This record gives sequence, C-alpha cells and structure tokens, in this order.
Amino acid sequence: LDVVRSVEPRIADAIGAEIEDQRASLKLIASENYASPAVLLAMGNWLSDKYAEGTVGRRFYAGCRNVDTVESLAAEHARELFGARHAYVQPHSGIDANLVAFWAVLAQRVESPALERAGARQVNDLTEEDWAALRRDLGSQRMLGMSLDAGGHLTHGFRPNISGKMFEQRSYGTDPETGLVDYDAVRAAAREFRPLILIAGYSAYPRLINFRIMREIADEVGATLMVDMAHFAGLVAGKVLTGDFDPVPNAQIVTTTTHKSLRGPRGGMVLCDDSLAEQVDRGCPMVLGGPLPHVMAAKAVALAEARQPAFRDYAQRIVDNSRALAEGLMRRGARLVTGGTDNHLALIDVSSYGLTGRQAEAALLDAGIVTNRNAVPRDPNGAWYTSGIRIGTPALTTRGLDTAGMDEVAELIDIVLSRTTPGTTKSGGASKATYRLEDGVAEQVAKRAADL
Ligand code: PLP
Repeated sequence: LDVVRSVEPRIADAIGAEIEDQRASLKLIASENYASPAVLLAMGNWLSDKYAEGTVGRRFYAGCRNVDTVESLAAEHARELFGARHAYVQPHSGIDANLVAFWAVLAQRVESPALERAGARQVNDLTEEDWAALRRDLGSQRMLGMSLDAGGHLTHGFRPNISGKMFEQRSYGTDPETGLVDYDAVRAAAREFRPLILIAGYSAYPRLINFRIMREIADEVGATLMVDMAHFAGLVAGKVLTGDFDPVPNAQIVTTTTHKSLRGPRGGMVLCDDSLAEQVDRGCPMVLGGPLPHVMAAKAVALAEARQPAFRDYAQRIVDNSRALAEGLMRRGARLVTGGTDNHLALIDVSSYGLTGRQAEAALLDAGIVTNRNAVPRDPNGAWYTSGIRIGTPALTTRGLDTAGMDEVAELIDIVLSRTTPGTTKSGGASKATYRLEDGVAEQVAKRAADL
C-alpha cells in the first residue's frame, strides 16, 4: 500500500478502509466472496499491460506468448474442472459472458445459415439486400428466461436490459403457492413462444433447477439451452450439484462469473459444446474489448484451487451453512421465500417484520451485516424498495464459519429486523422511507458480528 500511498494517498486509504470493512462486517451478499492471496497476486502485475485481441495462437498483436500460456492454462483448468468440451475465459464479467453466448447462438443459428444460403463466407460478402434480411432475422429472435422477480438476472430478457431489446422476450416465473419453478408452465410457455434461446439460471432463487428437464423442453421446441450458473458455479465445481442439477452436461452453452461462489477474480467465462466453440472464441473482438491477461491468470489460479479436494469440502459447507442460516431464521419466526434453501442463498421476506427491503438493508448495515435488498416474487414494493433481503453463505464459509456460527448470524439478523421500526419523513414534498433501530442495538450487534 505504501507504493500506492506515495502517488495517491486517498486511494491507499480507501483500499485500507475496505479491507477493514470486509473484515469487521458480516459479508452476506450472496454474490460476493474472498479471493485467495494467490488469486489476488496473479491479478496485480504487469500482465495487465499486454494487448492480446483474438484467441490463443490467433492474435491480432505480436508478443503474446505468455498470454497464450495463461489463457491456455485457464481454459484447460476450466474444461477439466467442469468436464466441458470448450472453455472461453476472456469475458470481463458475467454480463459480458452472456453477451458472448447470445452472439454465439445467433451466429450459429441465424447468421451462419444465412451466409450459407447466400453462398457468402462472411457478412461483408453479402449483398445489401441479403444483409438487410439478415439484420431483420437477427432482430426478430426470441428468448425465454426467468423473470427478475422470480430470481432471474437482468440479462435473461428483462425489457430495460439490452437482452430484452436484442430479443423478443418472454419470461417464466415461479409457482405462486410453492415459489418453485413449475416445469409444466415453462414447457407450455416454450411451446407457445418457440424461443431460439431458453435460459435457465438465477441470481435470487433459493432452490435447485433440474437442467435435464430444461434441456428436454428446449429440445422439444428447437431452442438452445443456455444456463447462466454465475451464482452457483462454485457448487458445480465442488460437485455438490451433479447429474440433472449440473448444467454442463445438460446445456449446449453455460456462462458464469468467476468471482461469486467460485471464489476467483472478478470476471466471466463461457463453457460450450463443440458446435458453438468457434463462435464463442470470436467473442473478442466481436463482442468484447481486449482480454485482461492478468485476470485470466487469476482465473487460472482460482480454477486450479477449485480442482483441489478441499474445494469440494468448501462447496458442501456453503450449502450446509446456508441451510443452517435459513433454519435459524425460520426458527426465530422469519418468513423465507419457498420456505428454505437448497443452495447458497436464501431470501427473507421482510414484510413479516413490517419493513421494506430498503429499510431492512440499511438497518442491517448499521449493525455491521452487509446484505442486499431484493424483490420477492410478485413484489408489491417493486425492484427499488423491494420486500426482500437476499443472503448467501459463500463469503462467510470462506472465513471458516460453521453451522453453529450461522445460527448466531441468524440470531443477529433477527435481532436487528425485529428491533427496527419503519418510518416516513418528508423531504422537499416527497416522502422518503426511513427506519429506526432501537438505541444500542446496532453497536451491540456490530460488536458480536466483528467477533464472529
Ligand atoms: N448472471 C447472473 C445470474 C448474475 O447473478 C450476475 C451478477 O450479479 C451476472 C450474470 C452479471 O455478472 P457481472 O456483474 O460480473 O457482469
């Protein structure tokens, strides 16, 4: 830090303060973790300075032999770890990985046949008329994904997101009674809508998805099954999710982030079968900017870590801890969406405490518990205020907390939520939701949280 401090002390201070915050608070954000020192060091070095557009052995720049080594190793670890035919490790983030995957499927299913029909090798060879027809075709393709309030991600066809604008979109939700994915309803929607891409995967669904059934549905309607395993990649890597619940053997294309339960650097990745490999590898420079060689190095290190037997134990403990946390909360009267969890996350419906998600999130933060507010299915408070708090165990499991520790975390959350009262203040004519945490509670809970 002293080197940074000698140039811009305020940045050194912010880095130091962040380390302190992350140590003192309870990190329950389901999409966060603590990467290892090996991962962090692989990222903080001069590999960052190299341009390497293209792929291994086919670069648009000279002098890429070390980046080739790094990228090949990261891809090899990913293939071995997940049992994938092909791995593309360049995406800078999960959203970028999804864009690469969308483009690859469009290229395979729409662009390539159009080129073939026109007897052209690439789009530059098309006549203006054929080009206009291709663009119309590309623009009229359909995507079916999980709705945002059921736990899907913005990029799964949410209208304001680019995915909802690139594709004609429709979404499937969850059963109003059980809160679970209703495969018959997904099948009915797919039969009626006939999407090009069926997306499975989620950011806030606390149960498992049967990807074998999803693939059957996709096959029946001629769709490509894409699974976004950004959240649960660590559980797949750690062999907690296998068979029907492992997306890799079931989907044609799988995307992920590398920084959530997988515990790597901030970044993304695409795994696919042979039929999509060539299109996926064109991600850069067709969809992505130049790769981040230092981050690919850190991905390789994280993937190598995930191939160690200890990672399987870690992945199992994430789920054991998640169940213990959910049970501890429910025993104390909290209401959870779907009545529990089978994965690394749970969703507390904080309306049972008389709070919005925003109030609950702020009160918990005051007490050193970092979470994020999240819509619950059919949320009356919308996506900004919400009625839910999403919690996840990957980070605290990395810190070594066990199921007994999770029960204590459940107690702390319940203390904060049950001693917070909602309020409203007027600010410049508009009313603003506020909250009041009983005196002394924030300090007491924050102290216990820091001691855990
Ligand atoms: N996909 C899912 C399911 C996610 O939950 C997220 C992140 O929250 C993303 C994609 C996007 O990842 P990133 O923030 O790295 O772009």
